[in-house]
Amino acid sequence: MGLPDKPGKDQGPVYVPDTSAILTGKIDILSMKCIVPSGVIKEIRKGKMGRLMDHEMCVIQITDPKNKFLDVVRSAARETGDLPYLSQTDMDIIAVALEIGGIIISDDYSLQNVSSKLKIEFQGCGLECIKSRISWGYVCKGCGAKYEEKLESCRICGHKITRYPLNEEKR
Ligand SMILES: [Zn+2]
Repeated sequence: MGLPDKPGKDQGPVYVPDTSAILTGKIDILSMKCIVPSGVIKEIRKGKMGRLMDHEMCVIQITDPKNKFLDVVRSAARETGDLPYLSQTDMDIIAVALEIGGIIISDDYSLQNVSSKLKIEFQGCGLECIKSRISWGYVCKGCGAKYEEKLESCRICGHKITRYPLNEEKR
């Protein structure tokens, strides 16, 4: 008989994204294990993108932080001076991440600052953009000749060169 599974410990990282991290679409929540406090879901539903998110919402787990973790977050935020700048949802996010050992995804400076104070892992959602960085190829508008470097004009026909994303090229 093996030991019982401990969800969240052996299944890779668990992420706790804030509302804007989800709404910007910069993170791929469909391929990540995400847990958020219910306040984040409420904020998303209030927003313009509320309806668009429905098919993605079902993959997000929802939990609400226990009071003892909220107390820890509140006193850490008071120490760093970030308390006035944190919403209740921000506090919930930090408390959930603290409780489950999750990684916060947020570009909010106050949220990152308190997370850092509590030694919670966090990342900005800007960092995730790098993963989908496009590399470009160059193609002649006239004859369709392709180049690896950007040229002023086509070596074959002299037309202008335009760029195209290499990742989308079908070979
Ligand atoms: Zn050409």
